[in-house]
Amino acid sequence: MDVNSIAALFSGLKSAHELLTAMEHTREFVQNGTQLSQLTRSLLDAQAAAMALQLEQHSLTARIQELEDQLKSKIKWEEQAADYKLTQLPPLGVYAYELQGDNAAGKPRHYICAHCYEDERKSILQPRSRGFTRYLFCNACGFESFVGSNTAVSGSSGSML
Ligand SMILES: [Zn+2]
Repeated sequence: MDVNSIAALFSGLKSAHELLTAMEHTREFVQNGTQLSQLTRSLLDAQAAAMALQLEQHSLTARIQELEDQLKSKIKWEEQAADYKLTQLPPLGVYAYELQGDNAAGKPRHYICAHCYEDERKSILQPRSRGFTRYLFCNACGFESFVGSNTAVSGSSGSML
């Protein structure tokens, strides 16, 4: 909060209070245009300072909410990320993050995209086939990695996954 704005607000209110106090003790209240003008000026200054403070408070409240949302998102990501460990996918040694057994909690074994992980986004790599090749594909960023091949004769997988 701006200290100068607060000081201007209190200064304006103090001036208005002093003028009102001085005018209460005089019978020339209505005739004294100078004091009325000063009073009006002080009240307008105080009102402007109060409005500026209100706008600043609104802006700061919005910024605090934004930072709280970012913090919640960061904490949630850190909790999710802790369940995965960087590993290399055979046969090429491409990196991906694998769900750790201790944290699986009934979830099937899977990998998440290393590129998306760096952007703090969990994207499960999906298995796909193209002809006789098998690969893992990230729907979020388009990453794909060859992971094996299907043999045409036996139909068995040559994949190491
Ligand atoms: Zn990805």
